[in-house]
Amino acid sequence: MSATIIDGKAFAATVREKVAAQVAKLKEDHGITPGLAVVLVGEDPASEVYVRNKGKQTVEVGMNSYEHKLDAATSEAELLALIAKLNADPAVHGILVQLPLPKHLNEDLVINSIDPAKDVDGFHISNVGLLATGQKSMVPCTPLGCLMMLRDHHGSLSGLNAVVVGRSNIVGKPMAQLLLRDSCTVTVAHSRTKDIESVCRSADILVAAVGRPEMIKGDWVKPGATVIDVGINRIPAPEKGEGKNRLVGDVDFASAAQVAGAITPVPGGVGPMTIACLLANTLTACARANGLAEPE
Ligand code: NDP
Repeated sequence: MSATIIDGKAFAATVREKVAAQVAKLKEDHGITPGLAVVLVGEDPASEVYVRNKGKQTVEVGMNSYEHKLDAATSEAELLALIAKLNADPAVHGILVQLPLPKHLNEDLVINSIDPAKDVDGFHISNVGLLATGQKSMVPCTPLGCLMMLRDHHGSLSGLNAVVVGRSNIVGKPMAQLLLRDSCTVTVAHSRTKDIESVCRSADILVAAVGRPEMIKGDWVKPGATVIDVGINRIPAPEKGEGKNRLVGDVDFASAAQVAGAITPVPGGVGPMTIACLLANTLTACARANGLAEPE
């Protein structure tokens, strides 16, 4: 293996420490405690794990965590009424509605009902527009975490060729916007891209956000490139026992690590950074709401 492993778990711990120190200072200097409300509708097991982790880490950095677990049959009107209440609550600085929502709820409508200033996921249409036009916004947590790791590894990203595989609203598109803002030459690849292997091989920075286990092989990677693997896929692991699973990314780590200059592992790469950035965004939202200087 030749690639440097980018340790997202360790990096996320430093981000959380920094947030915790700033939260402590906010309390001491201004008597303010940032608050994050997480809304979960239904009983999706993966979502329940994410929400539990978010709540735990929120409390660990000294913020208030407000969890709202709603029945799967909750009506749109009931969910919108809860969001309106959270929008109006001065103790709540960040609101996150865990996706995906049950099918009978309109995700766009729900997300766009969150006060953009409290939209710590950065999915509200206003934040999407602000990011696209280079204005101050809430930046989606997963791409923000990827950007932080890339900046930490490279310093300046200016002039590098970046390929983002995946064009979802929550990862691929905002990732492309952030890389463009850092002056990369950005290509967004997706399921209709022709000769995707060659497109990937042109990348100095390759971000995989596809949702297909180990799709990107070592021979798709330019020698020395930095590979950021956003994918979280659960695949059967009979070697661990019957019915057991293991987590893999969208990149075939074993072959890609032979070629890449640096690579994020799964687990322990992008995943931990996502929650750390959620906490950082909540702190930023709290500072803005109180007219205080933004945390760095
Ligand atoms: P989506 O399913 O919303 O989007 C997947 C994208 O990949 C689409 O744009 C799709 O193209 C593209 N795609 C699918 N198949 C192919 C293919 N064969 N070749 C090229 N492109 C393809 O997924 P998300 O963006 O929500 O998530 C992507 C991955 O990241 C998932 O594994 C998810 O679990 C993970 N994730 C991890 C997070 C973390 O914290 N680490 C947070 C969020 C997501 P098209 O648009 O043409 O259909």
